[in-house]
Amino acid sequence: AKGAAMVTAVAYRLADQTRQIAQTLAEFRLSKAQLLEVKKRMRTEIENGLGKKTHDSATVKMLPTYVRSTPDGTENGDFLALDLGGTNFRVLLVKIRSGKRRTVEMHNKIYAIPIEVMQGTGEELFDHIVHCISDFLDYMGMKSARLPLGFTFSFPCHQKSLDAGILVNWTKGFKCTDCEGEDVVELLREGIKRKEMEDGEFDLDVVAVVNDTVGTMMTCAYEEPTCEVGLIAGTGSNACYMEEMRNIETVEGNEGRMCVNMEWGAFGDNGCLDDIRTQYDCAVDENSLNEGKQRYEKMCSGMYLGEIVRNILIDLTKRGFLFRGKISETLKTRGIFETKFLSQIESDRLALLQVRAILQQLGLDSTCDDSIIVKEVCSTVSLRAAQICGAGMAGVVDKIRENRGLDHLDVTVGVDGTLYKLHPHFSRIFHQTVKELAPKCNVNFLLSEDGSGKGAALITAVGCRQRAQEAQ
Ligand code: BGC
Ligand code: MG
Repeated sequence: AKGAAMVTAVAYRLADQTRQIAQTLAEFRLSKAQLLEVKKRMRTEIENGLGKKTHDSATVKMLPTYVRSTPDGTENGDFLALDLGGTNFRVLLVKIRSGKRRTVEMHNKIYAIPIEVMQGTGEELFDHIVHCISDFLDYMGMKSARLPLGFTFSFPCHQKSLDAGILVNWTKGFKCTDCEGEDVVELLREGIKRKEMEDGEFDLDVVAVVNDTVGTMMTCAYEEPTCEVGLIAGTGSNACYMEEMRNIETVEGNEGRMCVNMEWGAFGDNGCLDDIRTQYDCAVDENSLNEGKQRYEKMCSGMYLGEIVRNILIDLTKRGFLFRGKISETLKTRGIFETKFLSQIESDRLALLQVRAILQQLGLDSTCDDSIIVKEVCSTVSLRAAQICGAGMAGVVDKIRENRGLDHLDVTVGVDGTLYKLHPHFSRIFHQTVKELAPKCNVNFLLSEDGSGKGAALITAVGCRQRAQEAQ
């Protein structure tokens, strides 16, 4: 009888543990009604960002980009491009040829940006960037070429023209001093001048500053003219789309369209998503470089998903449900669960034994039960990410549809980003959510091939053309 009672007690404890874990994760499961609410709130914030009176206090900034049309195929020439702010920093040479057989040829080199530079002074950052450009030109054997340059700078910038962008604030892993409130094109030009003073002849012609979402949209639009939206689901999260000039009250003129960099990562910074944020989201925010900022991004982008997972795991361990109740040094380490690990853990082809092997690699000793729980935590967090990202996109495509007074809209979204590309389920759930929440839109998704680099070159080509026209 004593044995039976013990068995019952153990069974009871296990059932209770299962229930408590389920309860913890239930906070992440959003109903369709809640997702529709996210879509609706995104729409409200979009209007606030576009409106003249509401813009200054708006959280979703809806920044004008001065890109007024998608490519038309006449773009031509050789361009340099920089891609800063994603997983890798790259310098590229892009050769675009117009005509019957349009071609784009690209050469690029990846450079590391050490963390001391990402979080050092602005001068150090731009010196480093210019050093990399110079190294790249050496490497390509074209030291003296003065090519037009497009700068993909994947942070919020206030633009007054194609070739000027005032950094609103750093996001993701960057936090350099003396840059916020400054024109990053000017900072780059000053870096170029410093280099010339030191080493002699060195000059570059910076023509455009480009957000990565815009580069992605332009790259996809080059192949597919119905592409009028760009999305990044990577280290960070953001979208852009072609908005009617008459609706962009922060820019003069009512004719035609302009691409707007939404900066939707800041959605929720006014508290409008507080009812769906969990204690774990708040913990991730508090430990970040930019507390209180980019709250939506912190719920749905690659840089933060692993951190949400880690915070849940710490809590479950504290409550004795995981890792035998022992919080290891590894589990206390920020950033251990990179997108590539989450993607591996959630892969359907992986047996639990392999999940344990991955955790082992990360330095986490797990039992078989632990690995089941870890996998469930990961999939719960990424499911919510894909769904709220889809809810935001549903708001965007419906806005475009209404702009055009249509009952039904066909549109293509150009997409890039490590989370979208690497994760085994993110893209499918994201697509499905957009479809469910915006049933009047038929949305096609196009993966961009090297969107940031090619797009920057395409925009630079358009910029050179505009410049030539103005000079006439
Ligand atoms: C930045 C955006 C960028 C996005 C994706 C965000 O943190 O604010 O400008 O488009 O990341 O890289
Ligand atoms: Mg990128």
